[in-house]
Amino acid sequence: MSKNFSLTVLGSRGSMPIDGKNFVRYGGATSCYKILAGDEEIYLDAGSGIVKADPQPKTRITILLSHMHLDHIIGLPFFVALTHKNRPIDLYAKARSGLSAQDALSVLISPPFWPLKIKAYPANVNFNDLPPKNFSIGEVSIETLDGKHPQGSTIFRLTFDGKSLVYATDFEHTPAGCEKLANFARDCDLLLYDAQYTEDEYKKFRGYGHSTPEEGLKVAELAAAKKILFIHHSPCRNDDELADLERKISARNEKITFAKVGDEFFL
Ligand SMILES: [Zn+2]
Ligand SMILES: [Zn+2]
Repeated sequence: MSKNFSLTVLGSRGSMPIDGKNFVRYGGATSCYKILAGDEEIYLDAGSGIVKADPQPKTRITILLSHMHLDHIIGLPFFVALTHKNRPIDLYAKARSGLSAQDALSVLISPPFWPLKIKAYPANVNFNDLPPKNFSIGEVSIETLDGKHPQGSTIFRLTFDGKSLVYATDFEHTPAGCEKLANFARDCDLLLYDAQYTEDEYKKFRGYGHSTPEEGLKVAELAAAKKILFIHHSPCRNDDELADLERKISARNEKITFAKVGDEFFL
């Protein structure tokens, strides 16, 4: 029997949180995805979506950060597991702009920006710079790839019990980058792909580090991913506009879905 391996969308809004009656279905919280893999509980990014996380009492908690842009870490000070006395939380991120994961987070999560330092919370947070090669968390093996993004971003591939998912957020397409990503994501069971901009918007925001559904379609087909989840929705796009875009794109490839808060995927 296959073991439990699931992903829950806690937030998939890009750039900044948004709320209001027109942002309910897809959700307005920023990037955070909860993965359960056997006894492991792994969070991809700690955007405002992590505020709603309800960690299981006995799992080991790991947080993998794609990069340090605010929308990916803004929820961290509110993560309830930080208030669990002596609970070990392993946090992994690549050192960027000359700052280790710990140094970068200590700049932001400390006075005067925030009253507490992370080390002052009751949990035991262990900061880890991403190992240069593949590594494992229990039975979950993790591979990484660098994405094109201002200050860089890390793309993750997690494999557990013969199934795998790829998290490609804050990724700007180039022909070579898409080919690399497609090879990295080859035959994965679930591919999360940054589809923030429409083609028209992208013309204005070239170099901002995000991609489009059109480019996502190409990568998905090249990679032969079994299911594709478009993520990092523009904070300017409301539910009706996202639903319209999703209808058009998924008509061209039935494996594509746009992430909605609360969605659960079982691999
Ligand atoms: Zn982002
Ligand atoms: Zn970013």
